[in-house]
Amino acid sequence: MSEKFDFIVIGGGSGGIAAARRAAGHGARTALVESGRIGGTCVNVGCVPKKVMWHAAHIAENLPHARDYGFDVRNDGFDWLSLKRRRDAYIERLNGIYDRNLASSGVVRIDAHARLTDTRTVVADERVLEADHVLIATGGRPTVPSVPGADHGMTSDGFFELESLPRRALVVGAGYIATELAGVLHSLGAEVTMLLRKEMLLRQFDNTLRETVMEEMQAAGISILTQFSIAEVNRDDSIEVVSAAGMRVSGFDCLLWAVGREPNTDRLGLDEAGVETDRDGFVVTDAYQDTSVEGIHAVGDVTGRTALTPVAIAAGRRLADRLFGGDSDARLDYEDIPSVVFSHPPIGTVGMTEEAACERFGHDGVKVYQSRFTNLFYGVCERKSPSVVKLVTEGANERIVGCHVVGDAADEIIQGFAVAVKMGARKADFDNTVAIHPTAAEELVTLR
Ligand code: FAD
Ligand code: NDP
Repeated sequence: MSEKFDFIVIGGGSGGIAAARRAAGHGARTALVESGRIGGTCVNVGCVPKKVMWHAAHIAENLPHARDYGFDVRNDGFDWLSLKRRRDAYIERLNGIYDRNLASSGVVRIDAHARLTDTRTVVADERVLEADHVLIATGGRPTVPSVPGADHGMTSDGFFELESLPRRALVVGAGYIATELAGVLHSLGAEVTMLLRKEMLLRQFDNTLRETVMEEMQAAGISILTQFSIAEVNRDDSIEVVSAAGMRVSGFDCLLWAVGREPNTDRLGLDEAGVETDRDGFVVTDAYQDTSVEGIHAVGDVTGRTALTPVAIAAGRRLADRLFGGDSDARLDYEDIPSVVFSHPPIGTVGMTEEAACERFGHDGVKVYQSRFTNLFYGVCERKSPSVVKLVTEGANERIVGCHVVGDAADEIIQGFAVAVKMGARKADFDNTVAIHPTAAEELVTLR
């Protein structure tokens, strides 16, 4: 016998939970099937534990500054395991909160692996569920390249299981995770080498941000080897990697693959249901998160569109509003999504890079304002870290199409400016806003 619902959500991560709770709030009988730990990637092996580690790194970086500020502090060591235990306990508390929130919203939580058997039926282990609307929110997992010896390395999932600080770490990749975790490992005391297959980190970001972060990471002591394409990994007493050109680098006690993520679509029954995927396996969706099959929808990382937690949440909530809340045009606008890289220093960014704006509006149609400065905080410090703010404007009205910040507090500064950019602010609107002094953010409203 099948159990009937209005809405079945597959995946209890950021997107699935948000959609399920919103749908239940609109009165839809909703089931959520999750095969792993509630909360998905962000809570268990993503944003949350990463940010805890970033805070730890931040404290380590500030210890020398504390001395410059007159404090008699010494660093008598860092207890990785004790922090890991506290971090794990925090995440367990969050798991409990997520479970309770689902229950109080009236969502039926099913602890099972889910599989579509046709366009309306989901089999969750032994249970058969039916609904007119099914949401695929199964997220993704880290990619491990298919080179010999690749399994000597770990992924970001393995990073969060480490019980001690690696002594010499090799981080392979050039994106968010490689940049963030290399920075954390370095600040906490590991000797870190990064391997890039191209020339630079963070390909999709504005060049000013990329250059500043890369220079700062190198100045801090991270070794970055470029144009290194790994062909083989060997493990003896330590890890050695061999490039396609035959170059060898060795002596590492851990290797972290951070080369992207792939969708969780295996054993999901997409073929049985007839759901279209792209050539990388991501579920194809239209502007309304609808798949190629009527009644089957998808949000979040599994769609391959802007893999960020707030994006999955926003897309999930809008979908539920459209399906069950009577808001027939609700959908997420994927333009001007702000993002932060928790690098050292952090990046905050919204809108177009200078290069993208020039491509879209032509060089003559784009005007850029930029300032590089040293935060007042470093006035009394020996080691200083730079900040850069940059506005990319378009047309005679100087509409701001890109706002980029790198430096201390960039992660907190960008959210408010993202509102202004989303509203179509012009440079004159920024100029008309009175600065807050002394802050780093004021540089964005005093650019000339
Ligand atoms: P997920 O959160 O991955 O949830 C999918 C869920 O589906 C999982 O719990 C999985 O177990 C379950 N599932 C899969 N298949 C099945 C099945 N067949 N049956 C039942 N259940 C199934 N984003 C940010 O915005 N800020 C950050 O700082 C940030 N940091 C990150 C750091 C790291 C190291 C990583 C890896 C990611 C980070 N992200 C960050 C990205 C963010 O975690 C993801 O974009 C977000 O979790 C995607 O949510 P989702 O709902 O699409 O998928
Ligand atoms: P990213 O897409 O950010 O970066 C992966 C990078 O790895 C690519 O840019 C590519 O760089 C490089 N790469 C790909 N294949 C190889 C290879 N075979 N060898 C060497 N390098 C390779 O993926 P991540 O895994 O870092 O993160 C996944 C997603 O999770 C991010 O896109 C982001 O959306 C999200 N995330 C968000 C965070 C945040 O909001 N702060 C933090 C962490 C993750 P290139 O092509 O230049 O060589």
